[in-house]
Amino acid sequence: MSSVLMINTGGTICMTRSENGYCPDRTAFREALSEMPELRSPDMPRWDVLDAEPLLDSSNMTVDDWNRLGSLVADNYDRYDGFVILHGTDTMAYTASALSFMFEELGKPVILTGSQIPLCELRSDGKDNLITSLLIAGSGRVREVCIYFGGELLRGNRAVKYSADGFIAFKSPNCPALASAGIDIRYSDSLLLPPPSGTFRLQRLERNPIGVIKVFPGIQFELFGSIMTESLRGVVIETFGAGNIPTSAAALLPIMEKAFKNGTVVVVCTQCPQGTVTLGAYETSSALKNAGAVSGGNMTTEAAVAKLYYLLSKNYDTRTVCALMEQGLRGER
Ligand code: ASP
Repeated sequence: MSSVLMINTGGTICMTRSENGYCPDRTAFREALSEMPELRSPDMPRWDVLDAEPLLDSSNMTVDDWNRLGSLVADNYDRYDGFVILHGTDTMAYTASALSFMFEELGKPVILTGSQIPLCELRSDGKDNLITSLLIAGSGRVREVCIYFGGELLRGNRAVKYSADGFIAFKSPNCPALASAGIDIRYSDSLLLPPPSGTFRLQRLERNPIGVIKVFPGIQFELFGSIMTESLRGVVIETFGAGNIPTSAAALLPIMEKAFKNGTVVVVCTQCPQGTVTLGAYETSSALKNAGAVSGGNMTTEAAVAKLYYLLSKNYDTRTVCALMEQGLRGER
């Protein structure tokens, strides 16, 4: 029988209503777990549960929390066949992306899940999300960081939060689901990452100063000049379409030059949920290309942010960070 470690970080799945709105409630969550006979079914893997400290609304997740979570998995890696991480939906795609890079040579399933309605409430979607995640984590079929939510198993670093209130809260528009859970759980084996060739390692992340700029009509790039200092290590620019920015506002160029001089890595992602950045396809993206920006391809902003943290934490030089940014490391592009 396989064994799974469930790590509870917080999020709606373990919340109850307080006078200031929903907040994590360890006792209510443990009670709700004990009231689920399915979890004691002989068809379930053997599981243990561990609470992260403190339990969080995932809006409060930081790089330090990712490191603590990474350590919890790494410290227990040899003892379990798979891991389920209960997490708030708001930043689940960021955490899944971060863990996908932090876990080098991962050879076991790490499944993030949560819910839109607390487990202790009527009509909670947490029940299926939890049960199916445990089954997937115990199956040994995947060796990567995934999100299971609303019937689909998604590659973690391809997922985005798509709905604030629907039960299908996540999508991965540039990568098909790795598995669908209907009557059976059907895996798309050809999409899964291959087994690792080395030994599992945890790369901890540094709190590197990075930023995200979303382009919009009328954007005054000069306003961002003041953040382009030597301490800014990386910036993701969320552009229109295939990597386009308003070139009529020539103000971006001096800012890009500043970034280049300071060794700040500039990554271009698209605001479109689907499709890819192709720098130079239009005149309106050539300026970025000529100024040394790197293409994020079809990476999500979540994955680009996590990858920047990761590559900068490896202490590579700027040229190497830029080169690796344009390569797929964990199926993220
Ligand atoms: N605010 C919650 C969180 O991300 C939302 C959720 O879990 O659905 O922790």
